[in-house]
Amino acid sequence: MIKLERMEKPEELTEEKQKTLTEEFRKNRQKDVWNQTYIRENLLMESNYKCSYCECFVGKGYKEMNVDHFHYKEKFVQEFVKSENRLPSCPHCRKRNRVLRGCKNILRKGIKTAEYSAFIATILQTEEDYLELKSLLKNCDLWDEELQILDEETNKIRMSVLPDKK
Ligand SMILES: [Zn+2]
Repeated sequence: MIKLERMEKPEELTEEKQKTLTEEFRKNRQKDVWNQTYIRENLLMESNYKCSYCECFVGKGYKEMNVDHFHYKEKFVQEFVKSENRLPSCPHCRKRNRVLRGCKNILRKGIKTAEYSAFIATILQTEEDYLELKSLLKNCDLWDEELQILDEETNKIRMSVLPDKK
């Protein structure tokens, strides 16, 4: 993973413009409001036209550049348009990140603070699809520390409601 040398944000992206974009996104979460040429160009320059995860070339003439939101945008609306929250990625890394993020989001529904956590945790930890996904991610070396913590936490919750089950 490369560290981006963040530049000054593009001139076009004024405070006012940021507010407008954030508002637009609040109203319609499906809309690609960040997809502005000046934002994309800026990101590509910051990363030297590389995917920030695997460092393959992206952008003009190379693989398509996707923009990954470091803090997932559904929850962190405020950070949505901030440039620090955007990472250029190649299609491959984008897909991988989506799988990982999806998996974490599901696990979060089973942790202590979540509504119906014991119920979700129990389903998750006994669901074959989940167990298969877990072993796939481990085999591909994609099972990271955050997943491990979430997994352990949901497992503890399941055990606490079903003390006699393995
Ligand atoms: Zn990549």
